[in-house]
Amino acid sequence: MSIAEHVTEIFERIGAPVRFDAAGEIVCRTPIDGSELGRLAADTAASVGDKVGLAHAAFEQWRTVPAPARGAFVRELGELLREHKDDLGALVSIEAGKILSEGQGEVQEMIDICDLAVGLSRQLHGLTIASERPGHRMMEQWHPLGVVGVISAFNFPVAVWSWNAALAFVCGDSIVWKPSEKTVLTALACRALAEEAARRVGAPDGLLQVVVGAREVGEALVDDPRVPLVSATGSTRMGKQVAPRVAARLGRTLLELGGNNAAVIAPSADLDLAVRGIVFSAVGTAGQRCTSLRRVIVHESLKDELVQRLAAAYETLPIGSPLDAGTLVGPLIDESAAAGFAKAIDQARSDGGTLVAGGTTADGVEGGHYVHPAIVDMPAQTDIVKAETFAPVLYVLTYRDLDEAIALHNAVDQGLSSAIFTMDVREAELFVSATGSDCGIANVNIGTSGAEIGGAFGGEKDTGGGRESGSDAWRNYMRRATNTINYSTELPLAQGVDFG
Ligand code: NAD
Repeated sequence: MSIAEHVTEIFERIGAPVRFDAAGEIVCRTPIDGSELGRLAADTAASVGDKVGLAHAAFEQWRTVPAPARGAFVRELGELLREHKDDLGALVSIEAGKILSEGQGEVQEMIDICDLAVGLSRQLHGLTIASERPGHRMMEQWHPLGVVGVISAFNFPVAVWSWNAALAFVCGDSIVWKPSEKTVLTALACRALAEEAARRVGAPDGLLQVVVGAREVGEALVDDPRVPLVSATGSTRMGKQVAPRVAARLGRTLLELGGNNAAVIAPSADLDLAVRGIVFSAVGTAGQRCTSLRRVIVHESLKDELVQRLAAAYETLPIGSPLDAGTLVGPLIDESAAAGFAKAIDQARSDGGTLVAGGTTADGVEGGHYVHPAIVDMPAQTDIVKAETFAPVLYVLTYRDLDEAIALHNAVDQGLSSAIFTMDVREAELFVSATGSDCGIANVNIGTSGAEIGGAFGGEKDTGGGRESGSDAWRNYMRRATNTINYSTELPLAQGVDFG
């Protein structure tokens, strides 16, 4: 069976055949062999506007539904995702190129966030605050916000959408989702399941709209004043384009942008653990995760042994079709990613780096872009090390004392994920303290990637400052009202002001 036939079968099982349009501008491809799966017509500025209108109408109805009843919709969505986990996971692998286990992991992440959101639907509570005025009470309420625009990246085609959508739906919002133009099919599959969930529980039509297209379609969504929150995931370049446009109309953004994640390997590190953590974080999803490990900052006493062990592990990595059992490294998304990989390695070498593993193209599947993940031993943290190359290139830097390691660690523009491998409790605590890692995620004795949905996810500096998923991230999707209620017969003023 061809990959295109596989996709057709998946959509039949989901119960929503895709209507391809041979004249469409958006070419759906699989990075596995570069083949075309079909074409889709792109949205226009006018059709984006229409879809925002439909989502707004759905919002006006949805916000009147009690939050626990909204949770019933998300519970149903989670059940449908469970039912179709294998098919959706395969579709993620086909469109984004990640191995089957990671594709299914991504669907599991959607299921997990739905579970979390269902619980939250009974806990969207505000505070009661002591008033300084007699006979008065102050309280906070959290109200539904409106239409949330979600822009997502190719490398997490569904998980990131679900972090936003599951929370936004229980918060009483509707969604207009612009998936990456490289991964539209998974978005259409999710929309079909969300529509089915809505039908089953009687939620309003139109709660989830999908707009198809590239940057211009994203811009039409970003500029629409009926969208109070734009949650955008992708490169820092994209975030820097989106943020000022939304700010110009005083809208809110939630930005999840690029990372340049590092792990510090301290003298006391359990090296077995460190090697496993590093390899998973550096080569998982072929180095195409926002949380991929890109820099190892190792104590000089361990450097030779660590590099030798990593190079040995890299030699045995099974590279090939992500649909084959046993593959650990699938393809890069496209030709430009492969060119970026080669260019970064060339630059690192001309900066004095030594290639100690990989760095060449790999056989893989004809038509796809497969590479041997690279390790480059660097004499210094040069500009190429400070840039996010979205491919499996791991730079090794050395340090003498922990202050130097933390300074190197923080001396990049991005601030997403970080880790330290140490058995020394003082070093571990220092790394996660206010003067340690400056990232949104700081781990001890695990790698930089593979976050759980229970914590708030996101990063600082050029990573954009947004927080999604668990903890109190739900507050992004609501508006806060502070209410002061006077139950006395007097009208005392705050701050002791006397107004006659
Ligand atoms: P990208 O920036 O090329 O595209 C992301 C999305 O933004 C796409 O849907 C694209 O069409 C849209 N877009 C681009 N320019 C736009 C504009 N001016 N206005 C509106 N929309 C626009 O990113 P990508 O190549 O798909 O993904 C890889 C990047 O995403 C990496 O930098 C990675 O670190 C980052 N990423 C970050 C996170 C996170 O949570 N921090 C998660 C996944 C990916």
